[in-house]
Amino acid sequence: MRETLLYEKKIENEIAGAIKSGEIKVYIQPKVDMRNRQIIGGEALVRWDHPEDGLIGPNTFVPVLEKSGDIIDLDLYVWEKVLKTLREWKQSGLHLVPISINVSRLHTYQTDFIAILNQLTRAYQISPELIPLEVTESVFTEDSMHIFESIRQLQQDGFRFSMDDFGSGYSSLNMLKEEPVDEVKIDRSFLKDIESRKCQVVVKNVIAMIRELGIDLIAEGVENANQAEFLINYGCTRAQGFYYYKPMPIEEFTKLLEQKQGTCNNK
Ligand code: C2E
Ligand code: MG
Ligand code: MG
Repeated sequence: MRETLLYEKKIENEIAGAIKSGEIKVYIQPKVDMRNRQIIGGEALVRWDHPEDGLIGPNTFVPVLEKSGDIIDLDLYVWEKVLKTLREWKQSGLHLVPISINVSRLHTYQTDFIAILNQLTRAYQISPELIPLEVTESVFTEDSMHIFESIRQLQQDGFRFSMDDFGSGYSSLNMLKEEPVDEVKIDRSFLKDIESRKCQVVVKNVIAMIRELGIDLIAEGVENANQAEFLINYGCTRAQGFYYYKPMPIEEFTKLLEQKQGTCNNK
């Protein structure tokens, strides 16, 4: 208990310096069309390259920063890095693919986060649809009205709203009925027991329902060929998962895009 508290304090104390000194790294995990393995986009995922503790994943520090409020600055740093990267790709003539960013629940309580996102896309001259906003499903469990208003406003400004971790909580179905969702990311917990008949029935029908609603669909956490085949057969063709690619440094993702686009152009 005491150790956890001390560790949390350490993270809080060090985060601002870590952002400034470049210890915070943005990785991108490719999203693919499973039918042809084309890269259709990516998701920005943060890591902390800590001088003593090594590379730390976000599950360790994002929840701490959500409690302390520092997630706001961290997210801003990630968003700006993504926009800078998109601008560099644009300048070097790459065909741009959307790179999703994660929006912490805390932002939805900030009145200025809509203005900030608009300012950033304008400053970097990147179309808002190129940075889909991933908001985790669990944000919608309580007192969600203000979030819906923000989402509607952002959609009017051209941003796309992606519901992350769909199916991991219990609010998702109502959301789909009532609220404007552009994309649903099926949580990887759905795919765990894809061999079991019950699991198959659920996944099949979730896919059918989302498609019938006209909402874009992507499966998260595809780890093997069985899962991929099942998903493709039932109409979910897009995925993000270790079976295809793990999250990688931006430079590596850029090389991958260049390689893939080079291959396409040569065809
Ligand atoms: P998320 O947004 O749902 O991101 C997907 C997570 O699933 C990533 O974990 C990714 O590495 C992992 N994943 C993808 N494919 C597979 C797979 O096939 N198998 C398994 N086991 N895992 C897979 P990661 O990078 O550790 O991020 C964890 C969470 O931390 C994210 O979940 C997101 O909620 C949060 N996060 C990451 N970056 C940011 C950020 O910049 N801002 C905020 N606010 N949250 C972030
Ligand atoms: Mg996400
Ligand atoms: Mg997710």
